[in-house]
Amino acid sequence: MKIFDKNLRKLLLKYREIYLLEKTTLVLNWDLNVNLPSKATDARAEQISYLSELITEKWLDPEFKANFEKVVLKKEKLSELERGIVRNLERESKLYYKVPKEIITKKARLSTLAFMSWRQARLKNRFSFFLPNLVKLVELDRVIAEHLGYSLNPYDALLDLYEPGLTSGFLKKIFERLKEELTPIIIKITSKDKTREKFKIIDSKKIYPLKAQKKLSFFVLKKMGYDFASGRMDVSPHPFTTTLGRFDVRITNRYKKHDFRESLMGAMHEGGHALYNQGINKEYEYTPLDGGASLGIHESQSRFWENQIGRSEDFLRFMTPILQAFFPNQLSGVDNRDLFVLFNKVEPGFIRVEADEVTYNLHIALRFEIEDALINATLKPKGLPEVWRVKMKNYLGIVPENDNQGVLQDVHWSYGAFGYFPTYTLGNLYAALFYEVIRKELEVEDLVSRGEFTAILSWLRENIHKYGKFYWPDELVERVTGKSLDSNHFIDYIKTKYSKIYELSL
Ligand code: MG
Repeated sequence: MKIFDKNLRKLLLKYREIYLLEKTTLVLNWDLNVNLPSKATDARAEQISYLSELITEKWLDPEFKANFEKVVLKKEKLSELERGIVRNLERESKLYYKVPKEIITKKARLSTLAFMSWRQARLKNRFSFFLPNLVKLVELDRVIAEHLGYSLNPYDALLDLYEPGLTSGFLKKIFERLKEELTPIIIKITSKDKTREKFKIIDSKKIYPLKAQKKLSFFVLKKMGYDFASGRMDVSPHPFTTTLGRFDVRITNRYKKHDFRESLMGAMHEGGHALYNQGINKEYEYTPLDGGASLGIHESQSRFWENQIGRSEDFLRFMTPILQAFFPNQLSGVDNRDLFVLFNKVEPGFIRVEADEVTYNLHIALRFEIEDALINATLKPKGLPEVWRVKMKNYLGIVPENDNQGVLQDVHWSYGAFGYFPTYTLGNLYAALFYEVIRKELEVEDLVSRGEFTAILSWLRENIHKYGKFYWPDELVERVTGKSLDSNHFIDYIKTKYSKIYELSL
């Protein structure tokens, strides 16, 4: 990578230290999620907050800052690549230059403790175990929003941390449209045919051995092109992907004894995230260009593999004999049509990560509205379980019976990530946009039905992955699709796919 500017070269040398500390923090976090003994929590919180302190000090180092300011002043004169680096440095630095150091460190410590109290609360199935830490996290994020600054809504300051320039105003319009279009589709589908399944494929009497499920995940990940020499797969309560180094992109999964779908789709989802990071230009390692363009774009890659590929008719046709080989007794007599219907069953449920494509975004709408209200202090954390029940009833017509089925199900709030959830919906919308283009350029259906994914991965690598953070998300989408983000393409995709499955005109 050619860096001509002397100051920027110096800056990147220092940035390398920040990068290394961040990756080390991720190792500790991976271990926290996968391995940590319960009594080690406090020590881990100390270790993580100490590293966060060191990272903050690096950013605030007077020499680093002075050099950074010099580079920013001559930004216009730099090469395109150099400008891309500076733009990302400016974005990353915002938190450190606007929010006092004590607050950043406090959040690092608090979120580790809150994560463990959330785990405890989940074990007891009681929100009250998590509430005290949640109250503190909401307060802290409100303070952070004030420091970051915003024009209309403090929540916008937090949304921008996860997706550059994202606002609650834009999201309100997106979610209104999605609610308006999706609600009648859900009603039409669920009131139609409930006895479509010929066999009880998923049933509490049927066991899908965990060992076979794990092997199946390995099989599919290899097919997709995931490099196991640069990664691994472990078990965690909430599946995730983490990039500990350019050649260390790890995923986790979880397994249900009576249902093999979640671990298979989980592997494809996290595999999609991991393929992105394994495909970024190697020269970007140790620089601010390493990583996905944004969380929304990142999620588009995971959702693309999970939904546009994994839940497609062609993929499930390809997988039918393979699934039968993995689960011969459980799936005997089942055909590809049965599996296509099974993997795309539209059914309002409590759990977001298990939701089908049609109801999924309503789970996000609920979280978006709750976060907006929490950060604006129009809703107190104490009132969360009740608001959750009311909104679930309104959007999906069901009411959770306990906290694990409701407010405690997701990990995100346990580390104070308010503003993160909406990027999931953006991911769905971006994925639909990319899918339209890729289908024009490749024979996707034919490739997928033969289990041939190399060309698809190459397309993603060439058009999206290799650029890392070189482009803003909207620039990237414009380059690849010639369009900008909206909900139309997603809605069209849903209508086409589910009209076919349910034999309805949607
Ligand atoms: Mg994801």
